[in-house]
Amino acid sequence: MPLSHHEAGEITGYHAHIYYDAESREAARAVRLGVEGRFRCVLGRWHDQPVGPHPKAMYQVAFEVDEFAKIVPWLMLNRRGLDILIHPNTEDTIKDHDANPIWLGTKLALDIDTLRRFSVEQAKKIAAG
Ligand code: ZN
Repeated sequence: MPLSHHEAGEITGYHAHIYYDAESREAARAVRLGVEGRFRCVLGRWHDQPVGPHPKAMYQVAFEVDEFAKIVPWLMLNRRGLDILIHPNTEDTIKDHDANPIWLGTKLALDIDTLRRFSVEQAKKIAAG
């Protein structure tokens, strides 16, 4: 285990992923309406089917570092029983999702292998120019 630390300045922003299913879609809509306009953030579209490493339907809320202290407490108080992944964005996408996120509610099992494959493909594309 190296003695060096990562600095918070490595974080360029955050995503919150709001998970839902058929029964909790209305709750997810209420959360979305609450977030929209209240915070500086970019709302992703509804993914009713699992996509990427995400094991359930979800939508993404992207926000900058400065907004964290506003939006995360609000989600704590207003998540309506939904499970929410909040992960940092750094240069290490795998760790962002695997080792370093926080969860509101229940921690879900992400498909990290999907991210690994994606990272390898991205690296190949970059190498190929
Ligand atoms: Zn994300």
